[in-house]
Amino acid sequence: MESGARSVERLRRNLAKVEERLQAACRRAGRDRKEITLVAVTKSVSAEIAALLPALGIVDLGESRPQELWRKAEALPKDLRWHLIGHLQRNKVARTLPAVHWIDSVDSARLLRTLDSESAKLSKTLDVLLEVNASGEAQKHGFRLGEIAPLAPLLRDLTSVRVRGLMTMAALQEPERCRPAFKLLRELRDRLRQELVPPHAVEHLSMGMSNDFEVAVEEGATFVRLGSVLFEGIV
Ligand SMILES: *Cc1c(COP(=O)(O)O)cnc(C)c1O
Repeated sequence: MESGARSVERLRRNLAKVEERLQAACRRAGRDRKEITLVAVTKSVSAEIAALLPALGIVDLGESRPQELWRKAEALPKDLRWHLIGHLQRNKVARTLPAVHWIDSVDSARLLRTLDSESAKLSKTLDVLLEVNASGEAQKHGFRLGEIAPLAPLLRDLTSVRVRGLMTMAALQEPERCRPAFKLLRELRDRLRQELVPPHAVEHLSMGMSNDFEVAVEEGATFVRLGSVLFEGIV
C-alpha cells in the first residue's frame, strides 16, 4: 500500500477507537454523542495528513501556534473550522482573525479588547472561549478561577466578540484526578451563563485531551481536543 493510503487506513482505525470510547463515555454519563464535537489537533502532523480528516467526517481542526494555523488554513480547503487553541499575542490578532472560526484560548482582558476592536474592523462576530487555568499550574496560560466572574462587565461591553464558553487544559496525570478541574470549569460556566445576555451564549466546555477526554465527557465537555490518540502511528 502506498503511504497516503496507509495513513488514511490508520487514521480511520484510530478514529473508530476514539469514537467507541466517546460513545462509551456518553453512555456512562447519560449524554447524547451529538453534544460533543471532536476537534482534531493537527500540530504534530503535516498539512497533507490534516487534509485527510474531512473525508472521515472531521471538520473542526485545532492548532496551538498561530503561524502554524495560518499555514495549514492556507493549504487546506476553506470550508473547515479552525480553532486556535494556544496563546495568541496581540500583534498576531489581525493576521489570525480571517483564518479562524473559534479562538478557544482567550487568556487576558487585553486580548479580549484587541479581538473586539479588530473583529469590528472586519465586521465579523468572533466566537471565543475563555481559557481558565483550572489546575493552577504556574506555567500555564489562562484566567485564574476567581478572575472569570469579575470579567462580566467588560464582556457586556464587547460588540464583536461573543463568549461561547470556557476552555481548560488539565494537568497531565492519572485521568480520574483531572475530574475536579473539569467539574470546577462546568460550575464556572453555569455561573457565567447566568450573568451574560445575548449575543453571548456561554454553553461550551472545551476540555479533554488524549489523556483525559473520557473523564471530560463525563463532566460535560462539548469540545474535546485530540491530537496524539488520533495520529498515533502516522508519520
Ligand atoms: C496539543 C494540545 C492538545 C492535544 O493534545 P493530545 O494530548 O495530543 O491529545 C489539546 N489542547 C491543547 C491546548 C494542545 O496544545
